Amino acid sequence: MNTKRMTITPKLVKIKDVFEGYVDKGDDGVFAYGGKLAIRPPYQREFVYNDEQSAAVIHTVLRGFPLNVMYWVKVGEDQYEVLDGQQRTLSVMKFLDHKFEVKIDGRSCYWDSLPDDKYEDLMNYEFMVYICEGSESEKLEWFRVVNIAGEKLTEQELRNSVYTGEWLSDAKRHFSKRNCAAKGLSDRYIKGDPNRQELLEKALKGICEYQGLKDITEYMAAHKSDADADELWQYFQDVIHWVEKIFPKYYADMKGLDWCHLYNVYHTNAYNSSVMAAEVKRLHEDEDVQKYNGIYEFLLCRDKDPFAGRLLNLRAFEKRDKLAAYSKQNGICPICGQHFEYEEMEGDHIKPWSKGGHTTPDNCQMLCKDCNAKKTNKY
Ligand SMILES: [Zn+2]
Repeated sequence: MNTKRMTITPKLVKIKDVFEGYVDKGDDGVFAYGGKLAIRPPYQREFVYNDEQSAAVIHTVLRGFPLNVMYWVKVGEDQYEVLDGQQRTLSVMKFLDHKFEVKIDGRSCYWDSLPDDKYEDLMNYEFMVYICEGSESEKLEWFRVVNIAGEKLTEQELRNSVYTGEWLSDAKRHFSKRNCAAKGLSDRYIKGDPNRQELLEKALKGICEYQGLKDITEYMAAHKSDADADELWQYFQDVIHWVEKIFPKYYADMKGLDWCHLYNVYHTNAYNSSVMAAEVKRLHEDEDVQKYNGIYEFLLCRDKDPFAGRLLNLRAFEKRDKLAAYSKQNGICPICGQHFEYEEMEGDHIKPWSKGGHTTPDNCQMLCKDCNAKKTNKY
């Protein structure tokens, strides 16, 4: 762990020095400043300024007006990543790369049709850069503050800008590339845009819970110097393979559930997958089940959780059925034999739903709240 206090060093960097070695490798990142600066790291989402915003940056520079301060993170010996200022830097780089033109005195110009003095001014314009260095936790804390004003990074993107190294590069190869292996493996079950680091974040959240860690930064801090992210990738594959084994038939409502969490809680239990398959089908056809995506956790926990029925949002009795039962019982609770007002009673299944009873008028009785609360069969 790096225990050095955080420092923020101001530095003026000429545009011509930033443009040195500028290369856009697409998904593999955008680099400049003689290869020492990642304007956008590999497999990180691309922010996109429209032409008007990009042109505004060029006009600001050509007039010699100040741009807002930019932040670079020091990630190694003379190696940096842009934390804030990505779009402003890219606008200038793209202009110098002949990618768009700006209007000057009513005339459209690419960089090479600028008057010489303007071109010189542009190349010698200085970015005001703050270079940040320090322990990971300090940087992360501070980046959150910086991020309020700048191009918004998600929490996971912020963590990625702090816990850099071999581990992160490998993790991003698995989880953050467009069409990455994690996306292909889990797309039917887990929602998340790899490029916005959402899959990586979900896998990390899952493995932290699995290992009893308090948050993602704890895991990333412990593993940032690992040679690869095999442990995380293995865990994620285990989760998906477990889902496919326990619930062999796919239903569209499986997508978006917190499968990592379900795996963490239930994977040590034994389940019979053909029983599970039949139950999933039966519950989808049950008219009293109102929440289909609760079926899976219900089946995983029903043997041990007396309240598992809540996961299915089971249909409750209509008021008219309860009023009819109340009047038929003359307001008497069949369990304690006392008389109650209608408002003091609750509708109850005579034959419980879990024993095959349905939410139909003939299966409705009214119990006083005390007796209903004491029932051992909760649904
Ligand atoms: Zn009672």
